[in-house]
Amino acid sequence: MKNALVSLAVLALSVPAARAADSPAARAFATVREPVVVLLHARVIDGLGHAPQEGQTLVIRSGRIAELGADGAVAVPQGARVIDLAGKSVIPGLVLVHEHLFYSSFVQPALHINEMEFSFPRMYLAAGITSMRTGGSIEPYTDLQIKDDIDAGRVPGPKLHLTMPYLDGPGTGITQLRPVASAAAALRMIDYWADEGFTSAKVYINLPAEIMGPAIAEAHRRGMQVTGHIGKVSYGEAAQMGIDDLEHGFMAMSDFIAGRKPGDPSNSVGNYRSLEALNPDAPEVAALMKQLVERHVAVTSTLAIFETFTPGRRIDTPAELESLAGPLKETYLTNWAAMNAKNSQMAVHALSRDMALELRFFRAGGLLVAGTDPTGYGGVLAGYGSWRAVELLVEAGLTNVEAIQVATSNGARLLGILGDTGSLEKGKAADLVVIAGDPSRDISEIRKAETVFKDGVGYGSKALFDSVKGSVGIQ
Ligand SMILES: [Zn+2]
Repeated sequence: MKNALVSLAVLALSVPAARAADSPAARAFATVREPVVVLLHARVIDGLGHAPQEGQTLVIRSGRIAELGADGAVAVPQGARVIDLAGKSVIPGLVLVHEHLFYSSFVQPALHINEMEFSFPRMYLAAGITSMRTGGSIEPYTDLQIKDDIDAGRVPGPKLHLTMPYLDGPGTGITQLRPVASAAAALRMIDYWADEGFTSAKVYINLPAEIMGPAIAEAHRRGMQVTGHIGKVSYGEAAQMGIDDLEHGFMAMSDFIAGRKPGDPSNSVGNYRSLEALNPDAPEVAALMKQLVERHVAVTSTLAIFETFTPGRRIDTPAELESLAGPLKETYLTNWAAMNAKNSQMAVHALSRDMALELRFFRAGGLLVAGTDPTGYGGVLAGYGSWRAVELLVEAGLTNVEAIQVATSNGARLLGILGDTGSLEKGKAADLVVIAGDPSRDISEIRKAETVFKDGVGYGSKALFDSVKGSVGIQ
């Protein structure tokens, strides 16, 4: 990951800030483009878990945080654009790690996944996500092109870290996701997509141990990280193989299914039942946490997607529903009603147990990171769902500033870019979100994002969201 850090730093130095919004499409949303910008009287939440600091001045110069300190202690440069943030907060741009550039919808007769090359980059940036890792690709060349377009300033969006197409064994049953039959086939795929520019691999629910082990080794040899939404392989087994990150909190954990033998088929109902029965204070749970921490295996919280499968919880906000294309909105609402009519308590119990385990992992010193995972039956959307993912970390028991830490510096630490972004510190990229409220007091005020700065260029959140109304599901 050292190489990635170095190349990012080189990139940041060699690309002038003005290039960050260089097409009419990107420029239309860039409300702050001056080379020197001063944010005055701000409440600063640094993303490292520290208490908020009131009355701060932040100077942005050529895309970087040039100065940060108390009002009066930091000089306001001549000719700078000065923005008064009295009563407002600044947090680092979010760094989320289970993102997708596609939208999945259960349209009959089968699940179909559409690439959202127009709407999702805008929605992520609008919500304050300035860096993100995708969590598995369906249209890999589209993903690469979106990244190129964003990097060149042709399209507004976050800095992308791309994960190659899923590595899965047979049985998942999604036509757009082709399984591999052997370790040799998996290695061919890894080498091909590494050459094409992907920096992470994702192992999936039906990949067997005899392919996963060699795949992880090969991905590491190619300088890629490996994350997993696993099923056939337990968390403990994957940790021993050297996996870097486990997706979906502890919801995909098969380790405590009674009578499970290595190699048993992926069994999500079994996972849920075992979570229901699990005592989070049991010594075997503590032993697994210890193993994950010692082996530096991160865990990605994706609570927003599980909430949509939990009866009696939320429905999307009016703004989210407005961003959906008409027919997809109807499909989503029908699916949501059907899911809620099931009234199964299993999902309710599994969600609350997963929250308890994520909190324990974080308290045990584990690297808890967060993702939106805009999948399922279409209720979790880029940006809006990202905010929900952060709110649910607080419901799980993290403090507000800890939840912000998980969604900012922890993500950057996992991706190896913390030297460049993910916290508010002098010298780092000016990737930050101006919030017309105080998310350290009420986490839902994270939704009051006003301006999102990426490399020192400020983008209007509302205009970005407004520009995608009626698009999601189609483009
Ligand atoms: Zn996913």
